[in-house]
Order: sequence, then C-alpha cells, then structure tokens
Amino acid sequence: MTSNDLMKALANAEDAFQRSPDNPEIGVEFVSDPTTLQLRKACRLLDAAQFLIDRNGHYTVIIEASFVAIERSIQFYVEASGYTMPGQSHTEVYDYGVRAGLFSQDIADRLEALWEENRSESYYRTGIAGEYRVKAIYQLATRLHQEAVQLTRTTDCICDR
Ligand SMILES: [Zn+2]
Repeated sequence: MTSNDLMKALANAEDAFQRSPDNPEIGVEFVSDPTTLQLRKACRLLDAAQFLIDRNGHYTVIIEASFVAIERSIQFYVEASGYTMPGQSHTEVYDYGVRAGLFSQDIADRLEALWEENRSESYYRTGIAGEYRVKAIYQLATRLHQEAVQLTRTTDCICDR
C-alpha cells in the first residue's frame, strides 16, 4: 500500500479535509453549531437512504447510512440535552443515549445487538441484505430521529422540507 498513486491520492484527501468546502452540501452549509451539525447529518443520511430505497437498490449503503443516522441522532439528542460526548465507539453511543434519557437500557442493548449483528453477520446466513431488512432498519432510524427531534423541540430538522 505504498504505490505512488496511492500516496498521491492520500495526500490529496488530506489536503481536501484541511480546506473549506468549495461546493458545500445543501442542508449542512452554514451550520456552525456542532450539535445542530449532528442533527443535520442525520437528516441528510436519511434523505439519501430514502433516495436509494426509491431506486430499489444499494441495500448495503442504505443499511450503513441508517446505522450512522441512528448514531448521529442519538449524539444530537445527548449534546442537545447538555451532555458532552467525548470520542466514543459505536457501542458507547447507545450508553450515552440511556444516560441522557432518550431510551431505556433495554432499548440500548437491543440497538447495540442490532449493530453487532450487522457487523458480524456471516455471508451465507444473514450477510445479504434484503428489501425487508432495509426498510425495517430505515424505518427504525427515521423513528428514532423523529423522537430525538420531538423531544428536543428543535426546529433545525430539515427532513420534511
Ligand atoms: Zn431531520
């Protein structure tokens, strides 16, 4: 992994992440508050997932986007509730959700188990995502996002705009 082409691509990517965006994504542009940014990233992930569902494909991306939207929505709720979330692993996010009062420990355990299942699935048993699974995880992500929005009474959600 040290070819010149790879090194050049890596340097370009590093440079790109240091620059201010030249053509920022709609919905997350002009958002300077980190808590609102978490919310808006979740809004955009759900919008992208719906876009792909409507095209009847790319299930892997929809599932990944749904899980990230769940994490971003939880992170938004936790931070909007006055808690700080230091660098956390995927599974710690759910514990913060309990601490901030978004859901019970039982729900956190089930969400975490779902995430682990998605990570550890074997190719033959459960690894190929089907339409039913895709719609179920997308609906879960959407519902959790809506609850975080309703409970915080934020007006920053852009999902229905
Ligand atoms: Zn939203």
